Amino acid sequence: MSAKNVTVLGATGSIGESALDVIARHPDRYQVFALTAHRNLDRLYELCVSHQPEYAVLASSEDALDFADRLRLSGLKTKVLAGIESLEAVASDCSVDVVVAAIVGAAGLKPTLAAVNAGKRVLLANKEALVMTGRLFMDAVRRHGAELLPIDSEHNAIYQCLPVAAQSLAEGTSLHQCGVKRVLLTASGGPFRGYSKDQLVNVTPVEACKHPNWSMGQKISVDSATLMNKGLELIEACWLFDVMPQFVEVHIHPESIIHSMVEYSDGSIIAQMGNPDMRTPIAYGLSWPDRIEAGVETLDLFKVAQLNFSPPDRERFPCLRLAEEAFATGGTAPAILNAANEVAVAAFLKESIGFTQIADVIEDCLGAVEVASARSLDEVLEADKMAREQALCRIKRVSNLTEI
Ligand code: NAD
Ligand code: MG
Repeated sequence: MSAKNVTVLGATGSIGESALDVIARHPDRYQVFALTAHRNLDRLYELCVSHQPEYAVLASSEDALDFADRLRLSGLKTKVLAGIESLEAVASDCSVDVVVAAIVGAAGLKPTLAAVNAGKRVLLANKEALVMTGRLFMDAVRRHGAELLPIDSEHNAIYQCLPVAAQSLAEGTSLHQCGVKRVLLTASGGPFRGYSKDQLVNVTPVEACKHPNWSMGQKISVDSATLMNKGLELIEACWLFDVMPQFVEVHIHPESIIHSMVEYSDGSIIAQMGNPDMRTPIAYGLSWPDRIEAGVETLDLFKVAQLNFSPPDRERFPCLRLAEEAFATGGTAPAILNAANEVAVAAFLKESIGFTQIADVIEDCLGAVEVASARSLDEVLEADKMAREQALCRIKRVSNLTEI
């Protein structure tokens, strides 16, 4: 068996690093074809030294020249590219077998779609891409025979709890036909789970990024704190598993030990459990249908001792409700939701708006930006652009700032 070529989009991020950790444990099975990064070039350099990829892709072509010199001086043969077309190229190159889609936000959409359109095995972390383009994305998976493996921990858990017949996401065996009654999507509840509405007003970005169980990038950490992450994941689950939102029930489970569950018509509920470590879903995505060592510590259930569950509070955490409403509206509404959220979260991280204003900005955009059918990528990208403009306007208004 020859080693599979892997492209890691977003290699310097939290998911990218976890993926490279798993890959490095199995040099006989995987080799790195391309690594991509946006800003953290020192870390990308280190990763190039340790993984010796064929290609490194950066955002700007000016940086690329310096970066290429730096690699050459270290005796590395890695070729350096820059820009969105290069991201698409390394995601779709004919030598690539597997693409880890781990760029954060809408920036990951085009390269992830390029991998899908080239029929690759795609390990999907970049949930925003699927939320934005939903049907277009899943149609492309089917048309091009891509192998879509969710590595968002909850969706990976659901996938693991499904019978093999339902695992071919592209082949249209409905979950219903397989006796599935319900999907139970778990959520930690984030760092502010027990906070009152008043307490939420004054929380800081540092507090929001301190997730109780997971170590993640800043954007998804804030999304977890607002429950927008669960809203995005609900939409993600509906598209991945071709189910209606009523079929998916969110359960707040603060321990993050059960990563999600599937209930069957005979009353069985199958849960996937493990330590909260993204290397488990990543390893599963890389090796499916086999299992490989992921470096994850054994779960000590004696230490965990208790597992708790409660329903989410959509009043204190309105982002979950907004996501549900956007999905019900359909068309480009989820793309508008996503873009407004990205802009609002960035403004919160810069302390231009408060935590509870994130939901206000999104609600404003959902009311103000016209919803289109989302039948073409252009329509989705236009909705994304309009929502970003609207969100910026709104943020400037509420924060009395001219610059954000
Ligand atoms: P991160 O912020 O740690 O890393 C993001 C990566 O994307 C970095 O490599 C960065 O260089 C790159 N990037 C950022 N902006 C870019 C741009 N404009 N163009 C090109 N590259 C860009 O984020 P993360 O926590 O690793 O999350 C990545 C994705 O995975 C997100 O969609 C997130 O929702 C999803 N996800 C993450 C986790 C987790 O545990 N971190 C779990 C489930 C899903
Ligand atoms: Mg998740």
